[in-house]
Amino acid sequence: MESTAQQQTEEIKTEETKQVTEKLQYKTTRDYFEDSYKFVSKGTLLDLWLTDKGDEHVLVLDRTIFHPQGGGQPSDEGFITSVDGKVKFIIKNLQHKDDAILHIGTYEQDGEVFERGQELLLNVDELKRRAYARYHSAGHLLDVAMQRAGQTQLKPGKGYHFTSGAYVEYIGNVDNSVKDKLVKELTIVANQIIQEQQGVEKGVWSKNCTYEEAGEALKEGVPSYIPKGQDLRVIKLTDEDSGCPCGGTHVKHVTDIVEIEITKIIKKGKNTRVSYTLKDKSS
Ligand SMILES: [Zn+2]
Repeated sequence: MESTAQQQTEEIKTEETKQVTEKLQYKTTRDYFEDSYKFVSKGTLLDLWLTDKGDEHVLVLDRTIFHPQGGGQPSDEGFITSVDGKVKFIIKNLQHKDDAILHIGTYEQDGEVFERGQELLLNVDELKRRAYARYHSAGHLLDVAMQRAGQTQLKPGKGYHFTSGAYVEYIGNVDNSVKDKLVKELTIVANQIIQEQQGVEKGVWSKNCTYEEAGEALKEGVPSYIPKGQDLRVIKLTDEDSGCPCGGTHVKHVTDIVEIEITKIIKKGKNTRVSYTLKDKSS
C-alpha cells in the first residue's frame, strides 16, 4: 500500500511542472457568490498536485465555498474531507489561478491522498467566515455612510477588510480641520444605517449580473476598469447604496454587522484612509 501511495505522489509531482507553467483549463464555480453563509458543501476533485514545498498539496475542485484572498479580504480557513470522513486535508491558503481556485494545504496524515473525480466535503471555518463577511460588508457600509455624510467628493478606492487594522481608502482628501469631526459623524451615520434596517425584511442584494444588468443595477454605471461585456457580481447593502462590483463574501443583512466604530482618518498621499473596527453583540 505504501509504495502505491508513493508512486501516486511521484506521478502527481511530475504533473506539477506542466500545471504551473500553463494556463489552467479548469473553472471553479464560486458557491460563496450564491450564499456567504453556506459553511458545508460538496465538490468534485478535478486535479491535484504537489508544490515544491515538501508535503504541501494543491487541490482544484469543480466548485467551492472557500474564498481565496483578494479584494482586501483574507483567505478562508477550514478543511476538506473524503465523504466517509477518513481522509482530511487542512487548508493553509487559497489562491486564484486563471478561472480556478487553488486549495493549498496538507493532509492530516502522511501518505493520504485524494483521487481525481472523487467527491469531497468542504468545511469552512464558520466563525472566521462570519467575521470576514462582517468586516468586508462594513467597508461597503462606510461607502454608504460617506455619501450620506455629504463627502461625495471621496470615491472608494482599495479596502483592507481583515479583522485587525481594517480600512477603506478613498480617492481624494478632506481638510485637516474636519477629520476629527468626520470620524465621529461617520460612526453615527453608519450605525444609523444599521439601525434603520432593523425589521426590514429585504437583506443585502447580491447578484451575478451580465454587463448590461450591472449597468442598470449600479447607480454610476459599470466602472471603466471592467472590460465591456464581462459578467460581474454586484453588491448593494441597502436601497440607498449605489452599488459596487464585488467578489467577496458578505453578511445577509446589514444588521449582522451589529455595530461599527470609525477609529481614525488619515491622509495617505492623494488618498484618505478611514480605519474602522466592529463591535460584537457581546462587547
Ligand atoms: Zn466588496
